[in-house]
Amino acid sequence: MYLRLAKRFVTETDKRLLAKAVWMLGVKGLLSIHKHKRRLKRGEFFPPFLYMSVINSCNLRCQGCWVDVAEKQHRIELEAANKTIAQAKAMGNSFFGILGGEPFMHKDLLKIFEQNRDVYFQVFTNGHFITDEVAAKLREYGNVTPLISVEGSEIISDTRRGRGGVLNQTMKGLETALKHNLLVGVCTSVCKSNIDDLVNDAWVNRLIDMGVMYCWFHIYRPVGPEPNQQLALSSDEQRRVRQFVVDTRATKPIVVIDAYHDDAGNALCPAATGFTHHVGPWGDIEPCPVIQLATESIHDERPLAETFNYSEFLSDFRELTAQHTRGCVIMERPDLLIDLANKHGARDTTVRGAVIKELENVVPRRSQFQPGQEIPERSFVYRWAKRYAFNDFGTYTKHFDLSKYHDPDLDEPALESSLPVLQD
Ligand code: SF4
Repeated sequence: MYLRLAKRFVTETDKRLLAKAVWMLGVKGLLSIHKHKRRLKRGEFFPPFLYMSVINSCNLRCQGCWVDVAEKQHRIELEAANKTIAQAKAMGNSFFGILGGEPFMHKDLLKIFEQNRDVYFQVFTNGHFITDEVAAKLREYGNVTPLISVEGSEIISDTRRGRGGVLNQTMKGLETALKHNLLVGVCTSVCKSNIDDLVNDAWVNRLIDMGVMYCWFHIYRPVGPEPNQQLALSSDEQRRVRQFVVDTRATKPIVVIDAYHDDAGNALCPAATGFTHHVGPWGDIEPCPVIQLATESIHDERPLAETFNYSEFLSDFRELTAQHTRGCVIMERPDLLIDLANKHGARDTTVRGAVIKELENVVPRRSQFQPGQEIPERSFVYRWAKRYAFNDFGTYTKHFDLSKYHDPDLDEPALESSLPVLQD
C-alpha cells in the first residue's frame, strides 16, 4: 500500500509541486512543530499552524454554517494577511489553513499566495471558483492545495448546501484542479445524511481513480445559529467514521487527514492542545473557527508573538478545556465557554451577536472523546508521524482531570428536532 501511495504521488502529481509540498509542508512543517515544542518547554506559546478565515461571504448557504455569510462582506485585507503571515513565519510557521466564507471570493486571495511563496496554504473551498485560469495560477505558485468539500450525492449535497446544482459545480472545480495537476484533497463534514454515501470504500476508490491525493472526514458539529441536531452523528456512528479512517489509512493509497486523535487513538482537540488557533474575517483571534469569541485581534498594536504568548483568554481556554475533556468543548461543554467569555469579557465576534445564546442552546453530546473505546492507528507511518508531530504535546497529562469529565451520553436523551432526516 505504501508503495502504491508513493507511486501515485510520483506519477500523478506535478514533480515541482510535489517537491514544494515535501519541503514546505513536510520538512519546514516538522521544523515548525519542533520549534513549538521547544517554546512549550520554555513556557512560551505560539501555535505552529494558523487558520485564517479571510472573508465572511459565500455563494452558498450551507446547513449548520456558523459564519455570517449573508452579511456585508468583510475581509482580512492583503496587507493585514501578509503582516500576519510574516509574523507567524518569524516564529517558524510554514503552513496556513485558509477558510471563509468561500476564500476564492476574496479579491486578493491569489495575491496572498503569490506574495508568500515560501509558505504553504491549504484552502477550504467549495470549488466553484476554481476555473482554468485560477488553477493555472495555483500551479504556477506551487504553494497551495485546494481542499474541496463534497457533502454527499447530488440531492443530499444540494440540500446541505442550500440550492440546486451545487455538487455539479463542485465536481467541475475538482476536475479543473486535477486537470492542472494540483495536489488536491476532498473533505466532508460527515453527518447522518451523508455517512452511508461517503464513508465507504467505493467513494474513496472513486477519489483515488480521479487523482485526489488526500481526504478528510470531519464530524458535523451542530453549533452556531442553525444547529441541525437531527444531522449529528451518534457515538456509535462517530466510532464508525474513526474506524473507517484508520482502516483506509492502512489499506488504500490515499492520505487520510484526521485532526482529532493521537497515534493510540486518544482523542484530542487541536485548539486545546495549542496546535492551532484561528483568525476570523474581522481579524479576531479565536480558539478555533467555531468558537466565535475573542479578546484580541490581529489588528491590535501588539505583535502577534506577544498576543499569543500573553493572551490570558486563549491560555485559559486551553487549560479549562483540557481539564474537563479530551473532546470538543463546544459539543460537550458549551457552558464552559460561556463561563470563559464572562470571566474574560470576551467579545462575540459575529455580526448576529448571539453567540452566548447559541452556546446556551447547544444540546451537549459526545464528540471524538469516546473513553474506553479508543481506536489506535493501524498504519505504522501514521503512528510514527503522530508520535512526533501530532499529539497533545503533554496538554492532557498536565491538565486532564477525570473527575471533572462529564459524559454527555449519560444525560437525558436530547429532544430530537421535528425536521426530517433526508435519506437517499
Ligand atoms: S473546540 Fe471542537 S471544533 Fe474547536 S478545534 Fe477543538 S475539537 Fe475542533
